[in-house]
Amino acid sequence: MSRLQSTDNLTEEQVELLKLVKEFVDEQIIPVATELEHQDEYPQRIVDQMKEMGIFGLMIPEEYGGLGESLLTYALCVEEIARGWMSVSGIINTHFIVAYMILQHGTEEQKQRYLPKMATGEIRGAFSMSEPALGSDVAAIKTKAVRDGDSDNWTIDGQKMWLTNGGSANLVAVLVRTELGESDSPYRNMTTFLIEKESGFGETAQGVTVPGKIEKMGYKGVDTTELVFQGHKTSTAQILGGVPGKGFYQMMDGVEVGRVNVAARACGVSMRAFELGISYAQQRETFGKKIAEHQGILFRLADMATKVEASHQMMVKAARLKDAGERNDLEAGMAKYLAAENCADVVEQSFRIHGGYGYSKEYEIERLYREAPMLLIGEGTAEIQKMIIGRRLLEDYRLKG
Ligand SMILES: Cc1cc2nc3c(=O)[nH]c(=O)nc-3n(C[C@H](O)[C@H](O)[C@H](O)COP(=O)(O)OP(=O)(O)OC[C@H]3O[C@@H](n4cnc5c(N)ncnc54)[C@H](O)[C@@H]3O)c2cc1C
Repeated sequence: MSRLQSTDNLTEEQVELLKLVKEFVDEQIIPVATELEHQDEYPQRIVDQMKEMGIFGLMIPEEYGGLGESLLTYALCVEEIARGWMSVSGIINTHFIVAYMILQHGTEEQKQRYLPKMATGEIRGAFSMSEPALGSDVAAIKTKAVRDGDSDNWTIDGQKMWLTNGGSANLVAVLVRTELGESDSPYRNMTTFLIEKESGFGETAQGVTVPGKIEKMGYKGVDTTELVFQGHKTSTAQILGGVPGKGFYQMMDGVEVGRVNVAARACGVSMRAFELGISYAQQRETFGKKIAEHQGILFRLADMATKVEASHQMMVKAARLKDAGERNDLEAGMAKYLAAENCADVVEQSFRIHGGYGYSKEYEIERLYREAPMLLIGEGTAEIQKMIIGRRLLEDYRLKG
């Protein structure tokens, strides 16, 4: 076990599971990650192995066929997997959020229908809030579901953007506008629909088209797509929880655990950048000594390790609060903000330690350098995290009288 990113008070089962995941990452992911990423190739073999290990059902309760692990265990596994390759953690991230939302907010019928197959990875989840004209401003969503009179039939039209796993998933939790006329608040006029589709591209269900993969600067291998609805017919039974008007709150709950998860990914990527940097610094020589012996480089390594450690401890705190059933929006926002910013910085410092070789595709840091910026954006940008953190602080520190 490395001295950095250690976690106090884990159970024996947690330690065993993490050891298993670490071995898997070291043996099966790290050796192939950079090559697959450069080819933008979907890591099917790794995904199949993760299915066998039960990773897709880590947090799904045993009664629905999963391993019933805590958010902390899940986040520590994600940290380890992202250390190997961030795209692999992206493949399980949206799946995990959708499973969590179904578990927390779904009807019993929806839980029975989806969770057991999600636990095995047969059903794979994506979630969709963003649209071409909006990301941070979720209340501005335009994709619309219109009810046919008082019936249980709905028709969805509109365009969604930036779906991680949009092609490979066969179940998408989609937030849409449903003008119910019962409230002026945009937040109460939104509904989450569970859309079943085939995996792949083109028209993958009636009135549901996945046009193709969005070309990205990094985070390759995992598919990121648009999703177009043209008269898609669905029913009240596909509304998460069975009742319209609750979608915004359901999604925000999903995004909150997603923030711990993104923080964990940032911890994993920054740990790998640190490992690469400290290794290279002990091999490369300039001016007659190893560059690690130059104080400038040594200080960089100290700064990087401090950031890696601080991010991890903040992420663990946020996960443990959620596991204890306590409100964790402040800590999840802080963890996501801190870990993503630290990750971008640690990756850049490792890149600089590599000198010119950091710019070569032969060195792993080149991939990390293109991956880290995604963590600054996904699951809410730094500005959005600061809005959440700031508002929550004003609640707690409100002046009396
Ligand atoms: C690779 C990738 C995968 C993604 N996967 C998914 C997914 O699976 N599902 C999904 O729904 N979305 C996904 N997204 C979308 C992502 O959540 C959004 O990109 C993100 O929320 C930011 O939204 P935006 O891009 O529209 O930026 P905007 O909201 O347009 O923001 C632009 C800039 O303005 C700043 N800003 C906005 N509002 C304010 C304000 N009030 N005060 C100060 N600054 C502000 C932002 O911080 C940002 O710097 C993904 C994005 C990427 C790049």
